[in-house]
Amino acid sequence: MKKKLLFILSITLILFMQLNVIQIEAISETLKEPTVKLRILETTDIHSYLLDYNYEKKKKTIEYGYNRVASLITQAKKEQRNTLLFDVGDVIKGSPLAEFVASSPMFYSNDIHPAYKSMNLLGYDAATVGNHEFNYGLDFLLNTLRGADFPYTNANIYVDDRNEYEQDDIHFFQPYLLLDKDVVNENGEMEKLKVGVIGLITPITQVWDKEHFENRLIIKNMRKTAEEIVPQMKKKGADIIIALVHAGLYSDQNYRPKSGNNVRDISKVEGIDVILYGHTHGIFPVKGAKGPKGVNHDKGLINGKPTVQAGNWGNHLGIIDLTLQKKKDKWMIKESKSTAKPIIRIIKKKKIPIVSPMPQIEYILSNYQKETLEYMNSKQLLNHLE
Ligand SMILES: [Zn+2]
Repeated sequence: MKKKLLFILSITLILFMQLNVIQIEAISETLKEPTVKLRILETTDIHSYLLDYNYEKKKKTIEYGYNRVASLITQAKKEQRNTLLFDVGDVIKGSPLAEFVASSPMFYSNDIHPAYKSMNLLGYDAATVGNHEFNYGLDFLLNTLRGADFPYTNANIYVDDRNEYEQDDIHFFQPYLLLDKDVVNENGEMEKLKVGVIGLITPITQVWDKEHFENRLIIKNMRKTAEEIVPQMKKKGADIIIALVHAGLYSDQNYRPKSGNNVRDISKVEGIDVILYGHTHGIFPVKGAKGPKGVNHDKGLINGKPTVQAGNWGNHLGIIDLTLQKKKDKWMIKESKSTAKPIIRIIKKKKIPIVSPMPQIEYILSNYQKETLEYMNSKQLLNHLE
């Protein structure tokens, strides 16, 4: 009996010691190879629906509005110490407020577009242009972008130099950005992260806005461009690369070639780690949804890459939570979680807001909104007279 007890005791002791060794190894591993939790936030297709206001019904709404998603952004930033915020385009055209601003002589005398007055409050790290950015022409676009206090990037829009040689082609925007981001690792120490950001746009934009593109700008294949640019970003030391893609899961119809001009094809580009996309006003991931091939809604991955799409008009916030681990001086994505977080919750078929509007945005926009409503009335009057 005594022998048996001694045997059990010694086995327990050996197991305990082994466990401790494993624990010590695990601790020293995290000290040696620190992990960083990084939250990447996305807005897209805001279309200047800056307020929670339904212009058709002429009343407030809880279903959309940048001022509402702005509160979600503030909340999401508070929950995680390392965050990045991006917009994926279609900001300046869409709502009656956007129409009013574009028609207003006041705006041309150096006023900042109310969309940027609002977005500047949230601290964006970068953004890319959508097709609707070109609707009012290049002068209007460039004048407007000056109001954004964050950089814009796009890689596949080039100046049309009217020759066949590709080697001398010049990008219209900065083709990519390398953001030096200070982050705090899980051991509480500072780390430097070089975040590469590349912007891509659906080439059908040059057909839809031919009037503004012809003889001035051309748009090249998204995948081909990314395959050219991403290695340059890697060479310059990008630790992770985020693609801001203004195009859908499928290429736009009526544009050839279809290949390379959609998110699924971009997800296959080596070196791109994370994708934030927009344009089609959908959301990704959708709980329980299936396919197409390579698209995993449950895990929020497209061909293995963490991806998100945040709806439109500020109805969702895109959130990708990454756990990065440094191995032999290289940052790798260890875990990821993608969420398109809505601004409302549906309980027993009733829509309940989960955030209140951000008061600063309402304050900034109050005059623009008043004048927009007056503008709408005058337009209706004109239409009636016609
Ligand atoms: Zn679009």
